[in-house]
Order: sequence, then C-alpha cells, then structure tokens
Amino acid sequence: MEKRKAVQDAEVAAKTIEKGLLIVNTGPGKGKTTAALGLALRALGRGRRVGIVQFIKGAWDTGEKHALAAFGERVAWHTMGEGFTWETQDKARDIAACREAWAKALELMADPTIGLLILDELNIALRYDYLDLDAVVGALQARRPGLHVVVTGRNAKPALIEAADLVTEMGNVKHHFSAGVKAQEGIEF
Ligand code: ATP
Ligand code: MG
Repeated sequence: MEKRKAVQDAEVAAKTIEKGLLIVNTGPGKGKTTAALGLALRALGRGRRVGIVQFIKGAWDTGEKHALAAFGERVAWHTMGEGFTWETQDKARDIAACREAWAKALELMADPTIGLLILDELNIALRYDYLDLDAVVGALQARRPGLHVVVTGRNAKPALIEAADLVTEMGNVKHHFSAGVKAQEGIEF
C-alpha cells in the first residue's frame, strides 16, 4: 500500500501544466449538457463567471435556466435567436441563427471576466455544416489561456475531438424513454 501511494504521489507530482481546457461531451447517452452544467456550478463556486450559448433552442423551459438566473450577472446565458426550424426545414434561417450564436460565443470567448464557456449542442450545428468546422476549431484552439470551454452534443467531429484536451463519450446503456417514460420535470428539463 505504501509503495502504491508513493507511485501515485510521484504521478500526481509529475503533472505540472495549468491550462484552460477544451472539453467535449459527446455520445448517444444522457448527461452531456447536465455534466457541462455541473462544471458551471463548480466554476461558480470558485468565483468564476460562466457563459452559456445554446445552439439549439430548447423546446422546453429548462430548470437550469431558472436556477442559474439566481446567479445574476455571474452567468451570461444566450439562447440562439430562432432556434433550429426542423419543422419548416428553413435551412437559411437555421444557418443565420447558428452564425448569430457563434458570434455570441466569440464575444464571450474574448470577455476576460468569463472563466468557463459552455457551447451547448455546438456539435449539432457542426454536424449539419451550418458553421465552418475549421474556423470553429481554429477559434477554440486560439482561446484565451485559462479559459475553459465545454462543447456538447452527439456526433462530435473528429477534428474537434483531435483539438480537445478532454473528451467524454456518454454511452446509452439504458434510457427510460425506450420504456415509454416521458420527459420528467427536473430530470430532462
Ligand atoms: P441532458 O441534457 O439530460 O444532459 P444530453 O445533453 O446528454 O441530456 P441531448 O442529446 O442534448 O442529451 O438530448 C436532450 C434530451 O434527450 C434529454 O431530455 C435527454 O434525457 C434525452 N436523451 C438523451 N439521451 C437519450 C437516449 N439515449 N434516448 C432517449 N432520450 C435521450
Ligand atoms: Mg444536450
């Protein structure tokens, strides 16, 4: 046990780099957005300001939005203007909305008071090629030192995964939705 502790201590001591991380939460299972919000809570608890840009306008009014409103100016929350228009299939409108959200993301990335930026469902916008992948990955890589960025959404692009420091894939072992259970307040929204 003592030997193991010595090995562990040496391993911890060998890690000396401090940096703002590019984090990607992807995969088919539940927990991508909520894990990002967990980091928001952690950062807020450490006195940092948090920015959140939602690239897909939620169909629902979410509990987290109400909860984070209690933090006032310490949370900058931006929901994409129009949201995706799946029903009308208005691609031009979707692209314009994505660009607007991305412009907001760039603005928050440049704001030195923000310590953590969550780009919720950015992967979806990239998957549909509504934003230029190289430009997005380039801007994320050129982020301010010290700024942590979390990107969520299924089907993360390989170039983003390559650029990231931390990538977690949520696996779908079991989801109540398949058993006919509808979205539950406080769990899904
Ligand atoms: P959450 O916001 O709960 O962390 P998520 O961000 O991982 O979920 P999204 O792809 O953004 O998942 O989908 C959002 C909604 O879809 C959530 O209400 C979630 O419960 C639901 N969902 C996530 N994974 C699955 C799945 N495998 N089957 C059915 N519904 C799912
Ligand atoms: Mg999500």
